[in-house]
Amino acid sequence: MSAGAYLVIRCDHRPPGGEQCDRERGWPVYVRNHTELRRNLKAQGWRRTRKGKDLCPDHSGRPTPSDPNTP
Ligand SMILES: [Zn+2]
Repeated sequence: MSAGAYLVIRCDHRPPGGEQCDRERGWPVYVRNHTELRRNLKAQGWRRTRKGKDLCPDHSGRPTPSDPNTP
C-alpha cells in the first residue's frame, strides 16, 4: 500500500443466496490507513464487525445520520 493512495472500504454484507452489497466509501481527505478511514466512517454509520467485515450504514444495524452521497 503506497502512501497517499485513495483508500476505500467496501461493504461485506452478503445476504444468504443474495448478491453482495457493492457499496464502498472513501474519504475526501487524506487518511493514512484503513484504520483511520474506518474511524472516520464510523461517524457515518459504517461498522467493522469482530469477524473483520465492513458494513455500510444500511447493513450495520445502526440508525444512520443522513448520508450526503446517497441519492
Ligand atoms: Zn451494505
